[in-house]
This record gives sequence, structure tokens and C-alpha cells, in this order.
Amino acid sequence: MAEAPAAEKTQRPIVPFLKLPATGNPYLQGSRCKKCGATYLGARMACSKCFSTDAMDDVQLSDKGELHVFSIVHQSAPGVPTPYIAAIVDLPEGVSVRCNIQGVEPDPKNLKFGMPVQMVTEKIRTDREGNDVIAFSFKPI
Ligand SMILES: [Zn+2]
Repeated sequence: MAEAPAAEKTQRPIVPFLKLPATGNPYLQGSRCKKCGATYLGARMACSKCFSTDAMDDVQLSDKGELHVFSIVHQSAPGVPTPYIAAIVDLPEGVSVRCNIQGVEPDPKNLKFGMPVQMVTEKIRTDREGNDVIAFSFKPI
């Protein structure tokens, strides 16, 4: 009798709408209303634009967007390194994503409203079962 293989450590997204396919790039998943086409981040029960409660289509959101607004955070919860850049990024599908901006010093001179940004993922910690926990952020292109 063959032995069962050891349980494999996997990658787990920190939020359910971050998808980590076995092949291809990680992406954010959204829902698109079948009636009016409004698109939302993550899963949704109803459309707040047309109030349709029909099932929505899952859509793969773009990994590129524009920096809508940002704030440089100097004080945070214990254990969270500061300063960091908290931001809202607009995706071409009409979806706004709250996220952090990586890849630049947290200084307003490095950031411009409307600048193009791209999603990146990184391992932020290991969970109790030894799986990698993956988070997403955006960086200037
Ligand atoms: Zn709708």
C-alpha cells in the first residue's frame, strides 16, 4: 500500500477576493452585475446600483490601475511598521481597492494622484499550519 504524501504547505490569500491560481498571475476577483454591468470587488449578494439580486458573474479584475488617493501613515497598531502608504487605487473596471503602496519611500514627492500602479503580492507571514499567507499591494509602474 502506498503511503499518503505529506500534507503540502500551500499559499493562502489574506482576503478571499485575492486569487492565487496554480498557474498564471495572482489577481483580484470581482463580481459583475448581469443586469447593469456594475462591478464590485469580491463577492456580493446584490447590486447597489440597480438592486438586482440575481447571481453575479465572477470577473478577473485588472492588475493595473491608478492611484486615486493616498495617505502616509505615521502611527499604527503595535507591531505594524510605520511609515507606510495607505491608498485607494481605481481599477479600469470601475472598482476601488483599499491597499498599501510599496516600492517607493513613503514621501509625498514620490506619489502623484492618477499615477499608474500595478498589483504585487508577497508573503507576509506563516500561519499556524505552516502555510504562507499572501497579501497584495500596489507599486508604481
Ligand atoms: Zn446592477
